[in-house]
Amino acid sequence: MDKILEALVSSSHPLTVKRAIVKKVMEAAEKEVTEEQCQALYHLTTRLILLGEDAFQRQVGLQVQEAYARYHRDEFARFFSKECVLGLLQQGYGSLDCRDPAILDFLHGSLRLLISCPAVLELAPLLQTEVLRIICERPEPATCAKLATILTDFPQCVPREKAGVLFCQQLVRTFAYFHCPATEERELREYVTQVTRVSVLLQGIWKAEPATLLPSLQEVFAIISSTDPSFEPSIALACLVQHIPLQMITVLIKSLTTDQNVKDASMTQALCRMIDWLSWPLANHVDTWVIALLKGLAAVQKFTILIDVTLLKIEQVFNRLWYPIVRQGALVVLSHMLLSFQHSPEAFHLVVPHIVPLVKSLKNDGLPNSKTFLLQFAELVHCMMYQYSGFPDLYDNILESIKELPKPNEEKIKFVLNQSAWTSQSNSFASGLLKITGKSETGKTGLVNLGNTCYMNSIIQILFMATDFRRHVMSLHLNGCNTLMKKLQLLFAFLAHTQRAAYSPRSFLEVSRPPWFTAGSQQDCSEYLRFLLDRLHEEEKTLSALQVTNGRTLVERMFGGRLSTAIRCLQCHSLSEKEEPFTDLSLAFCPSMSKCHGPTDEHKSSSSVGPCQGAVNGGSESSEGSVKEGAGTRMERPVVEPTLSAPDLVDYFLAPEILENENCYFCERCASLQRAKKVMQVVVAPEYLILTLLRFSYDATCHVRRKILDNVGIPLHMSLPLRQYVPYVLSSVVVHSGMSSESGHYYSYGRNVSSTDGYSMDWFLFNDSRVSFTNFESLQNVTSRFPKDTAYVLIYRKQEVSGQPSNSGPVVNGSRLSGEPPLQKELMDAITKDNKLFLQEQELNARARALQATSASCSFRPNGSDDNDPPGSCGPSGGGGGGGFNTISRLVF
Ligand SMILES: [Zn+2]
Repeated sequence: MDKILEALVSSSHPLTVKRAIVKKVMEAAEKEVTEEQCQALYHLTTRLILLGEDAFQRQVGLQVQEAYARYHRDEFARFFSKECVLGLLQQGYGSLDCRDPAILDFLHGSLRLLISCPAVLELAPLLQTEVLRIICERPEPATCAKLATILTDFPQCVPREKAGVLFCQQLVRTFAYFHCPATEERELREYVTQVTRVSVLLQGIWKAEPATLLPSLQEVFAIISSTDPSFEPSIALACLVQHIPLQMITVLIKSLTTDQNVKDASMTQALCRMIDWLSWPLANHVDTWVIALLKGLAAVQKFTILIDVTLLKIEQVFNRLWYPIVRQGALVVLSHMLLSFQHSPEAFHLVVPHIVPLVKSLKNDGLPNSKTFLLQFAELVHCMMYQYSGFPDLYDNILESIKELPKPNEEKIKFVLNQSAWTSQSNSFASGLLKITGKSETGKTGLVNLGNTCYMNSIIQILFMATDFRRHVMSLHLNGCNTLMKKLQLLFAFLAHTQRAAYSPRSFLEVSRPPWFTAGSQQDCSEYLRFLLDRLHEEEKTLSALQVTNGRTLVERMFGGRLSTAIRCLQCHSLSEKEEPFTDLSLAFCPSMSKCHGPTDEHKSSSSVGPCQGAVNGGSESSEGSVKEGAGTRMERPVVEPTLSAPDLVDYFLAPEILENENCYFCERCASLQRAKKVMQVVVAPEYLILTLLRFSYDATCHVRRKILDNVGIPLHMSLPLRQYVPYVLSSVVVHSGMSSESGHYYSYGRNVSSTDGYSMDWFLFNDSRVSFTNFESLQNVTSRFPKDTAYVLIYRKQEVSGQPSNSGPVVNGSRLSGEPPLQKELMDAITKDNKLFLQEQELNARARALQATSASCSFRPNGSDDNDPPGSCGPSGGGGGGGFNTISRLVF
């Protein structure tokens, strides 16, 4: 039979004749055939399959072999022996090299003919050894793909146990050698298909033998973290990422980033290569892993790596956005890299020149997803321009190109930025392990207490929260001057942009402390505020650099009001009038609380409060002094509605007063002391109305300054009586906690209120370095809960009456200020410099802590990584505990 067939296939008969005869030969397979004939046919068909001159010969070989093997399986099993397989895989066949793909195809076909035969099981150990050997020779993707197909169909041929681990590691390493010289799309697609097939084999093995996963990943890391310049691992490794179970991400990244054996250079290299993986088409989850690693590094404060990698790779990641197939993953990583890089505009400015061309292309490419993508992209760009405002020359074209796309509101931008910072608390899975020094959830910056400096801190924060004032200060061009206003501007810039949770206002303290204030001791915050505003005002008048609008300084325009005092002599009825500017109203308490609602001329004293008034509440001085806001202790007493409110005190302040007895008025016309009637009136209402409650009074009988502890109601809205009522809305309140102005503690409540944006419902509580969210109820009830904590300085913002523009509203260079003005370069540079310093400090601290932690515990040597330091103190732990983390901690081998 074999002779006939051999003669036939090489004969010159027409194909139809040949096919008919081949059919006969195949039909003969059903009949009895001798062992010898079988073997002869198998040999012949094998030769036809492997060495056939044309497709017909190879096809005949396959058909006939299949037909005979179906009816004479045992004979085929004897033909397809260990020796045969070994010969094929080690020597090849005839002129065929043992690495020829046809050999693997034949092997695969033959195994299929023997499927579910005991013969396959007998061949399995041999094949396990052979596939491991072949993989170690780093075969081409095509060969690997064929091998992967065989092993997927015949899992019993996959190496087991130790050899299984080795096989996976070698397969991973083989990935690193894959490359595709082709540039044609068809070939590229084929290459990707082959790589994918091999990765699916690995996935199958990882699922079936979970013990192989970790060593495989260690191998991946060893490869990508190698700093050997002579070998660049293939990005085909990206294909493996999608098969790593996502639930392992936290523990893997944590063990990786906290492993003391991983040198920074290796980590940098690994991270860069993972970012390169974003270029791999259909690379699922690569973005997830890259971001997890970036966050992991931020959590252990390895900022140097993050800075280096971001600056090195940001443009490359950006360029991936041009390719729709990898666009989404690239955008996720780009967004994270840009949004988290908050200490300097450097990274953003690297990609700025590429934004407009990309946007133009996206608008015109007509792809269905481009629109959605543009929306996300524009949002990112808005966030970045907000974070690094002040570069109109760089941003003008960008703004123009995205002008028709929606812009996220300021709150959203702040939220996004706050979430993304390296130092953000939401960024850390390591909280609890490491001390997080980033800003609080509020995104606001606290102020370090420099030794009883809460009087200053509380004032700075309420001035900062005076939104329009802050915006004006930030928009002043003060470059080069070394003025107090410049220092205030710098301080505001830091409060707005530093990455520190709390900023140290040391240099501001030095220049703004009144000369009579003793360093290190508690002071009156109201006195400080008045001194500060006065200094700023005087300085403004003398410096031409500052824009004095309409002859009024910024301090005057923001806080300045005018008060007229008219005194009529009750003897001769002559009137003496004068008008004076003010920046705050000092409100005395009525001599008797009960009479406050109807202040009478008889009991009104001048603005200094008389000695030992009934209102002085010394009796409540109790052990409750230690109770503070935030301590969580709520006083077990009924909330007492204050009988007195701030507007009552204003009314009392403005009420007519009879000057008599020791307060008699010297009338020039009468040329003698006379009884007189004094009337005060606000004639110009300030934009910001500062009210100071005169709580501290000198008790002449006891020779001490006492504090009036009366709870004063603070309404959200109030008005000042001028020709008509001028409405005001509450902006901030400084609370004094304690019994005298020379002791105790200050903290403040504040919120954003501006003439253009209205007012926010979000209240912040500023307590030195701590800033937290709070609400108006907390402020309203503070005194009833903590009797020694009383409102002291209040700032109200004037509200515009509709149709009546405010005469001194926030106008700069003729235009109203809305939104935060751009941060000037000089300020930005100072902040960038300090942010870098802050990151370095954090990193150093983290390193010191990590070193301490390592010296106290066991260390594992990286094996196969690039550093050659002497081995660590201990070897791998001998199954101590066997817990997941114990194993995981050896990820980097
Ligand atoms: Zn008179």
